[in-house]
Amino acid sequence: MHREGINDNNVQPEDILCDFCGNTAWANDIPCVEGHQGSIVCGNCLTVAYTELVLAEAGASTEETCRMCLEHRDDPVWAGAVEPVASICKRCAKQASAVLNKSKQWEWAKPAP
Ligand SMILES: [Zn+2]
Ligand SMILES: [Zn+2]
Repeated sequence: MHREGINDNNVQPEDILCDFCGNTAWANDIPCVEGHQGSIVCGNCLTVAYTELVLAEAGASTEETCRMCLEHRDDPVWAGAVEPVASICKRCAKQASAVLNKSKQWEWAKPAP
């Protein structure tokens, strides 16, 4: 997400916050994946989300839509820690993990079982 009150025509890296932990991941060289409408999940959150949703097959059910794909799914989701609380669906956690895992820009590996 974008920091509140910024100039949308001149977005700086430190204006871009992870929707799930609220950190300025982009400016701190933490890997990030973009979702719809400027949503961002950082590699740290993705590690936790992937581990919980895919490896542990856990997660919570919610009526909320996924912050990344803006769709509601019946699959469990992982929820972030900052208000307004964002959730990421299993499909997005998998897709974003695949993107980061493949990216040559980042040293990010999918969590292993
Ligand atoms: Zn994060
Ligand atoms: Zn999703």
